[in-house]
Amino acid sequence: VIDADPALIGDLVSANHILFRHGIVDAFGHVSVRDGRRPGRFFLARNMAPALVAAGDVMAFGLDGTPEAGDERPPYLERFIHGSIYRARPDVGAVVHSHAAAVIPFGVVRRVALRPVFHMSSFLGGPVPVFEIREAAGPDNDLMVRDERLGDALAVVLGSGPAVLMRGHGATVVGADVRQAVFRAIYTSANAGLQAEAMRLGEVTFLSDEETARSAVTNAGQVERAWSLWRREAQG
Ligand SMILES: [Zn+2]
Repeated sequence: VIDADPALIGDLVSANHILFRHGIVDAFGHVSVRDGRRPGRFFLARNMAPALVAAGDVMAFGLDGTPEAGDERPPYLERFIHGSIYRARPDVGAVVHSHAAAVIPFGVVRRVALRPVFHMSSFLGGPVPVFEIREAAGPDNDLMVRDERLGDALAVVLGSGPAVLMRGHGATVVGADVRQAVFRAIYTSANAGLQAEAMRLGEVTFLSDEETARSAVTNAGQVERAWSLWRREAQG
């Protein structure tokens, strides 16, 4: 058993189940949370399907992706995504990495950026950057962020924003805490589906910069409302 705040681990377990329930993760993808008491440490499940995660499956890692001493359980290959972002972004308390189908088109079509198309995704702020792994790993890559160097390269493209798309792979979304990260992951995927649908119909009116900024302030206080519903759904 790892040394951790049980409430934080409870939220992390719920996050795994909620993200599965909403189709953000399937057998793959993962969500982590930073240890609020020791910021150089984060929690992430062992290598397994998110829907099946229980508190006992959670492992502790250093920001270089090394599991805590004595924990021999196999970790996720792409745990470096989480550690590198926590190191680059002191404001980030949770990270969701997924292969959500809806976001994939926006990572592979260069001339179309994912942008806020409705108010629930106003936190995106503007066009979402795309990580091109060939720029960091060269042509001989398997698309996986499998070491610290690639994790750091991803964190650079994420910059100070809430999300980064990964070409031919998926997306990584961050939040101040695990509830906000889950909220953002769900609505990033929703935005992608709606934007693609709208673009098939015709010219799209996106949120203006002013609307984006104002809506983001309004929505910031609404995360708990969604979380309480989603957690109950995931338990049912
Ligand atoms: Zn992945």
